[in-house]
Amino acid sequence: MNTKTEPQVDAVVALGSNIGDKVANVEHAVALLTEPGDIELTSRSRIYKTPPWGNTDQDWFVNACVGVRTGLDPHALLAKCLAVEEKMGRHRSEKWGPRIIDLDILVYGDVDLSDDTLTVPHPHITKRAFVLAPMADIVPDLELEGRTIAVWLANIVREGIEPIE
Ligand code: ATP
Ligand code: CA
Ligand code: CA
Repeated sequence: MNTKTEPQVDAVVALGSNIGDKVANVEHAVALLTEPGDIELTSRSRIYKTPPWGNTDQDWFVNACVGVRTGLDPHALLAKCLAVEEKMGRHRSEKWGPRIIDLDILVYGDVDLSDDTLTVPHPHITKRAFVLAPMADIVPDLELEGRTIAVWLANIVREGIEPIE
């Protein structure tokens, strides 16, 4: 019997959807990500309605994020995120294009890593109000690049980003 207990790490995962019942898609993804097993839900942000980013010629998004505690290592957590996307029928077409669901690892403890498949902290957090707003609900005091999430949010244009619940 394996009695080894994995160290538990706090991570933050972003969720986004702009196809179909967007709020239901986010709720479904949270449920799949944290179904009993390796990933425990510890906090969740409000759900936000947000304008499209990157490729702006597409429907509005909903965005949210969740705090999780997990014994999975960063790549195993990424694999779980991608498995949830696949289970929900995501098909990748153009970069930053429409998606039924997107799950990104924003932070994983205080780990800093970058390889071919994973970069944490997620590289675009401080430039994306649609990520900073939900993050500020659950980890306002988390520091990235020398400023807290709350301060990054206070200093970014956040037009059109509103909580919907
Ligand atoms: P962006 O990463 O700019 O938000 P995106 O979410 O639309 O863009 P995807 O097509 O969903 O990009 O992901 C492409 C790949 O990004 C994934 O298959 C994964 O290997 C890689 N990736 C790198 N870092 C991360 C991370 N922190 N979280 C999720 N995926 C990541
Ligand atoms: Ca993304
Ligand atoms: Ca992604």
